[in-house]
Amino acid sequence: MILENRIAIVTGSGSGIGRAGALAMAREGALVIIADRDAGAGEETVRQIRERGGNAEAVTTDVADDNAIERLIAGTLDRHGRIDILHNHAGIQIGGPLTDVSRDGFDASWRINVRAHFLAAQLAMPAMIAVGGGVILNTASNSGVFYDREMIAYATSKHAVVAMTRQMALDYARHKVRVNALCPGWVDTPFNDPFIAQMGGRAAIEAYVRDKIPMGRWAAAEEIAEAVLFLVSDRSSFMTGQALVIDGGESIG
Ligand code: NAD
Repeated sequence: MILENRIAIVTGSGSGIGRAGALAMAREGALVIIADRDAGAGEETVRQIRERGGNAEAVTTDVADDNAIERLIAGTLDRHGRIDILHNHAGIQIGGPLTDVSRDGFDASWRINVRAHFLAAQLAMPAMIAVGGGVILNTASNSGVFYDREMIAYATSKHAVVAMTRQMALDYARHKVRVNALCPGWVDTPFNDPFIAQMGGRAAIEAYVRDKIPMGRWAAAEEIAEAVLFLVSDRSSFMTGQALVIDGGESIG
């Protein structure tokens, strides 16, 4: 097992990529703190991990709330004494061009996609330094490295995640804290439900994905979880400040 005895926090791990990544970390021996705003979804991830013989705890956390992030980090340190892995994964997508996106939608995008990553990392960093190092993984998106139409709130916030990741990596490399960004493309999770509804249903999105993605398909969340495992484990021990794109070729096509 490659993460034996590590203490990991994953935000937004009640579903999708966050859950798949948490399951993979637990499979490799980590104790995973499931930090989702949906209590039932978080408990379900814990149940799935325990069913497979792993260790996990749910701490219901809305990352839009600074106090909740403070409780998450402080509570984990109180109970376990260290944080080895912080995967800032929770995020939202607000679509639309400049003239359509509301100020509230823009602020929410930056608050959840950028500021929450910043705050959790800021609070966890001293504890990582104190034990001689750690790993932070910030979920961005392939929208953090290229542009799509009518995505001003999402693309700008995800580009900011990549920029912040590089800056953190540069500043804390000497403290042996590695910081990388996860940049998935289309992954088949409930995250895309609003877009699917807008497109007119499952058949329409399947046709869209077949046409738009060079590999002609979506990713399964489990495929992204393998990249998560690589980035949070010693298998990427000389890698920091990078944005790993896993998108079936979309951003080069
Ligand atoms: P998902 O919808 O399957 O799961 C998201 C989880 O996050 C849910 O359990 C939800 O309750 C939780 N969540 C939402 N807001 C939260 C908040 N404020 N605080 C705590 N938890 C919250 O989504 P997913 O596919 O895992 O994607 C989520 C992340 O991955 C986002 O950062 C998104 O930008 C990124 N991403 C997803 C895709 C994709 O196609 N699925 C592609 C690129 C990037």
